[in-house]
Amino acid sequence: MDSNQEQQEIAEIRELIRNKALRSTNARITVIQKLKNASSPISHAELADLLVPLGFDKATVFRNLNDLTDVGLVSRTELGDHVWRFEYNDPNNPHEGLHPHFYCIDCGSVTCLPEKDFQHLPSTENADIGSITEILIKGHCHNCLV
Ligand SMILES: [Zn+2]
Ligand SMILES: [Zn+2]
Repeated sequence: MDSNQEQQEIAEIRELIRNKALRSTNARITVIQKLKNASSPISHAELADLLVPLGFDKATVFRNLNDLTDVGLVSRTELGDHVWRFEYNDPNNPHEGLHPHFYCIDCGSVTCLPEKDFQHLPSTENADIGSITEILIKGHCHNCLV
């Protein structure tokens, strides 16, 4: 990404945050930027590893993750290992919100699965059950199969 593209991305993120009536602080912009460019949900500890070298402390990262989760720009998932993982929730693409996750029971890696791979995903409001918040698929990843 060249610096022009990065400026453009930052301007868009700033706008998203302001649309949620939050102040677009550097910490919030950086949190969203890292989550947006991550290919899978990441934990608070992993995010702190990325942000602490940039001058943010862990408490700031955690507080901002919570603020952004509260307004729906970030979604939080727990896949049975008692670790909260966070991912960017694109308000222009709300359908991507509830997509299945693949969890490797050997190494604990998490992969987002595209919704289009599943023809019969239940809707989030399911009359027979209640409200669905997470779809989890478990197995062995490629690295662990060998
Ligand atoms: Zn694995
Ligand atoms: Zn995901």
